[in-house]
This record gives sequence, structure tokens and C-alpha cells, in this order.
Amino acid sequence: HRARAEADYRPSALLETLGGLLQNGLTLVAMLVVLARYGVWLPVALLASTLPALAVVLRYAARQYQFRMRATPVERRTWYYDWLLTAGEAAPEIRLFALGDYFKAAYLGLRKQVREERLELARGQGLAELASGAAALVVAASAFLWMIARTLRGSLSLGDLALFYQAFQQGLRLARTLLENVGQLYRNSLFLGTFFEFLELKPTVVSPAKPAAVPVRLSEGIRFTGVTFRYPDTRRVALRDFSLSIPAGRLIAIIGPNGAGKSTLVKLLCRFYDPEAGSITIDGVDLRRFSVEELRQRISVFFQQPVHYNTTVRENIALGNLASAPTDAAVEAAAKAAGADAFIRDLPEGYGNLLGHLFEKGTELSVGEWQRVALARSILRESPMILLDEPTSAMDPWAEADWLNRFHSFAQGRTTIIITHRFTTARLADQIHVMEQGQIVESGSHHELIGRGGHYAARWAAMNIV
Ligand code: ATP
Repeated sequence: HRARAEADYRPSALLETLGGLLQNGLTLVAMLVVLARYGVWLPVALLASTLPALAVVLRYAARQYQFRMRATPVERRTWYYDWLLTAGEAAPEIRLFALGDYFKAAYLGLRKQVREERLELARGQGLAELASGAAALVVAASAFLWMIARTLRGSLSLGDLALFYQAFQQGLRLARTLLENVGQLYRNSLFLGTFFEFLELKPTVVSPAKPAAVPVRLSEGIRFTGVTFRYPDTRRVALRDFSLSIPAGRLIAIIGPNGAGKSTLVKLLCRFYDPEAGSITIDGVDLRRFSVEELRQRISVFFQQPVHYNTTVRENIALGNLASAPTDAAVEAAAKAAGADAFIRDLPEGYGNLLGHLFEKGTELSVGEWQRVALARSILRESPMILLDEPTSAMDPWAEADWLNRFHSFAQGRTTIIITHRFTTARLADQIHVMEQGQIVESGSHHELIGRGGHYAARWAAMNIV
């Protein structure tokens, strides 16, 4: 948040300040030389008179920085409320539950809290500057009185006094500007520090120096062995000593309650994270031995909450495999396999139709239609491994049946994992695994599991009673 907010203007501000500092510094030196003619202590006094102000500038630059550090979480929260109050996604609920005033009050409350602290800081700074200004005034007045006394004694001419007055005034003004430059320089460099801190963040998931090749066609399959995983900065174990073998070219389904850890399997297979213990292998080779980019190229993934790209339908699908520069025919074939071709053709501009309502002439799709466009995007990438997380959750039963038929032939020969809450989708699989609290608790075909009378059979019975 800080890096994003500061990075676009701090570097140029730093450069401008450096320029100003140089320019004002040189002029000040010239003024000090002029003053030194009337007494060596005069330039020293002038510089000394700025020392309290320098201390104030540095102290408050640091305090402002600390204040920004403290206020960042509050600022982020106000951004969030701002988003809630203005984003299209939140608008229906905000209206229906009449939450506008509630979030507005929360937003204003936080802004007030930040403003009060900022005002307090400004008040303190104002007082400190007043005190340092008074100290400078005493020094300046003493120098003037001394010079006037010398003029009255006749050791200086009126012309000298006028020159001194001009040079001293100019010197004070320059010293003040220089101080402001120093303050800005210090403030900007402090804030730039946060930007460099951000740039120094290193990815925890990295490719090895000499990566193994990711198989283009799997011969053994995917295997999770004793995998334990916790999301970063959390204590709850998402997968505990998890083991699962997915034979090459087979389609398996994973079913289980919310929070069981199903989507986590997909994230680990894509190497968004590495497990804490245990290993995940493809054809016997640990994922960590592959290049991250190549591994991801070999996986088609459909995420539980796919992105609604506000681009044309064609682009929405082509984004799944830009590297292969897909032809229109390939895009349309993927749309057909995903069961999206029919409604796309009904759009005013077919595959060239803009989607979403962010831009002019865009058409908003239903959740199920978006889901099918996203499926087409995943399918376009012809990879040996397919991971689908709730691919049919928003489809009507007819669309689901239609899609399952098409998908079954599409998935032939590929190693596929489908995560689903739908028994109708799970039944398609060669093997169904029931997952609970980060572990597999039952495995088998639909009929085997029904016959076993365990978790799966109990849920199946409950569903059919309903
Ligand atoms: P659902 O059926 O609701 O999609 P799931 O079985 O796919 O659930 P996961 O998404 O794998 O469940 O989540 C397993 C656990 O990991 C949950 O307890 C969740 O709180 C936690 N979790 C998931 N994603 C994150 C994340 N990004 N950061 C921290 N914890 C997470």
C-alpha cells in the first residue's frame, strides 16, 4: 500500500529537492562570504540560528514517517470502505441491507481518527517551528544591533549596513529554504525506503538452477506423499499428512465439506506454495525440481472464482494460452467443449462481443455463463494435467449434463482432478476421494462408495431424501 501510494511521486520529488538544495546551497555560500567581510562570527551566527529549525525539521520528518507507518492499516481500511461504497460487486447488498450509511459512518470515523492524529502532529510541529523561529530572531536581532552600533561608531558606512542587511536577510531566507529542502530530502528518502523494502521481497517459491523437464504426457501420474501444509502466517493445518495417488490419464473427483482442503491441493499443485512436509511428485519427480513457469504451462486450471476479464469473448478465452497464439477455430472449439458456444453466438457481436460492464458496449453475463467462458479458457490450454475446482457449481442441471458429456471425451488421456460438491459431476470420475479436515477418508467408484455405507453413502442418501 505504501509502496504503491508513494512510488509514483517520491523519486521525482527527491530529484527536484536535490536540485533545489544544490542551487540554494551555492547562493547561501556566496551570501556567507559577503557576510564574513564584516566579521567571521556573522556567517557562523547565521548558520547557528538555523540549528534549532534543522532539529525541528528532522524530528518532524521522522515523526511524520512513523505516523504514516502507524496509520497504514487504518488507511487501507478506509480504502476498503471506499471500495465497498463504490464497487459494482458490492452495490446490490449495500442497497438491500441498507449498509450505505453504516459503512459511510465507519469510513468517516476512521478518517477522523487519522485527521486528529495528523492535526496533533501539525500543531506540535507549528509550536516547535515557532520556538526555533524565535531563537533565530534573537540571533538575527543581535547581529543587526551589533552592526548598527558599529555604524553609529563610524567604523562602517551606511552603504555597508545596507549591504549587510540585504545579505543577512537573503542568507536567512536561503537557510530557511535549504532547511525545507533538507526536510523534504529526508522525508522522501525515508518513504523511498519502504519502496525498496517492497522491492526486496523475495518470492518463496523459486525455480531450481537446473530444472527437470515437465512431462508433456504423464506416464505414472501425480502423487501426494505425507503432505502437511499451513498457509503462511496461519496456525491451522490445511493438509495433514496427506497422501493421494492420481494415476496418469485418469479422472478423479474430490468431494468433501467446506474447508476440507480441496482447493489447497490445486494451489499446491500449481506451486503457489510449497508444503511444510512431504512431497508432491509428477511421474516421480518432485514439483520443486521443475521450473515454476514450465510446470504452470503444463496445467490447465479452472479456479473456483474465475476472473471476469472485461475484454471480448475471444480474448477472454484466448488468455488461457496466449503463448500458442490461438486461432479463432481453436477458441471456438474450446468454447464448444465448455458448452459456451451457443450463448456466445447469441451475443450481438458473437465472439467479438465485449464482456462485463466496465466499458462501453460491454455485455454482462450470468454467473453460469461466465463460468463456461472461464472453462473454455482453461480448456484452450492443451496440457497433460487438468485441475478443475467446482467447474459446474453455477451450471443448471441441463448445462451440467451437457458439459459432462463433452468434457469426458475432452479429458481422455489426460490426468484430471475435479473438485466438486455435486454428486452428478463426481460420478463421472474413475475414482472418487472423500476429503475431510485435510485428509482422504474414503476412496472408490460411486457404486463402491455407496455400497460401503460410509461418509459418501450417508451424504448421497441425505441428498436423495431431500
Ligand atoms: P470449499 O469447499 O469451501 O471450497 P475447500 O475444501 O476447497 O473448501 P480450502 O479452500 O482448501 O477448502 O481451505 C482449507 C483451509 O485453508 C480453510 O480452513 C481455509 O480457512 C484455509 N485457507 C484457504 N485459503 C487460505 C489462504 N489464502 N490463506 C489462509 N488460509 C487459507
